[in-house]
Amino acid sequence: MIYLSGKAVILKAALLLILVSTSSFANAVEEKSSKLNSLSWKFLSESEASHLLKEKKSMITKEWTDTEKQHLSNDLKTLRLKLPCLCLRVGKIGFARVKDIPSFGECKAATTYQVVVISDHFFKSPEDELSTLAHEFVHRADSGGQLAYSRRWIEFAEKNVVFSKRAGLEPSLKERLAIAMEFYIEGKKNFDRVNFERKILPLLTDVSARSLRLNRLLALANNEHSAHRYDSALRLYEQANKLLPEAPTILYGEACCKASQHKDQEAIDLLDRASKVFQKNHIPIYDPMATTVLLLQSSYFCERNKLVESLALLKSLEETQPSGKILATIQSIKKQCQRKITP
Ligand SMILES: [Zn+2]
Repeated sequence: MIYLSGKAVILKAALLLILVSTSSFANAVEEKSSKLNSLSWKFLSESEASHLLKEKKSMITKEWTDTEKQHLSNDLKTLRLKLPCLCLRVGKIGFARVKDIPSFGECKAATTYQVVVISDHFFKSPEDELSTLAHEFVHRADSGGQLAYSRRWIEFAEKNVVFSKRAGLEPSLKERLAIAMEFYIEGKKNFDRVNFERKILPLLTDVSARSLRLNRLLALANNEHSAHRYDSALRLYEQANKLLPEAPTILYGEACCKASQHKDQEAIDLLDRASKVFQKNHIPIYDPMATTVLLLQSSYFCERNKLVESLALLKSLEETQPSGKILATIQSIKKQCQRKITP
């Protein structure tokens, strides 16, 4: 009984982390809706927006004013001139107007699978509008995290970019990539613009057929995953895997799906492979993706009486000073291990 309830806690934590890291909402999937050959945008009416955001009950949708539409259209035209390939990669996109985005504090914008959400705060600082939009476009352009979790980005982020901790937490690798784009647009001092342009931007703005297909597959897979449609997600991860073998995000996604389906041995094998790639790419363990994998691994180790291994992983996670929910999950697995040591 103890083990079962513990496992439920872990799976819950895993799914929570996935939702946080992908920013994908469980929306209906409309493959046809994305024609990536041109940038086009649509201002969603309040009813369209509330339908697409129905699972985000805390977001209060509202109608656009004509001034706001004009404002945002101008920003988008400027962004298209500055970064045409980033816009091409993002493709067709809908904009939803909400009062605020409560789960992220005073947040100006957020990205879901189909929609970029714009809050009241967006219009309060016009000087930041362009960089805020570019930030959200990075989330869309690298929706599967294929660049954010690559060795190339991690090396750049480690060497060249110093990020402030937000709310006492290190931003995830995906978030760092989007923040870097803000720095690039703003011309921030001490930001290595030359190497960002040379090493990172070409990958973020790659509009080859293969790259667009991979991005699309990973976005769809993450969306299906967040909506708990694991078979469908696994099929999509499998197709993505053919285009990009041994990719951290794919292995991570597959492992979490298998764990949620209680296919334990397959999940363990995938977690093991994912861990090795994480080490190879130097993915920091405070990142939500690595944290989830380590939590799942430590849970399986504990369950299979590999208590030393389990406790070692938990210790390394504790050293990252995790937030409340993660810490509670760590304590829960620790207790299970300790009960096995001293029954
Ligand atoms: Zn972001």
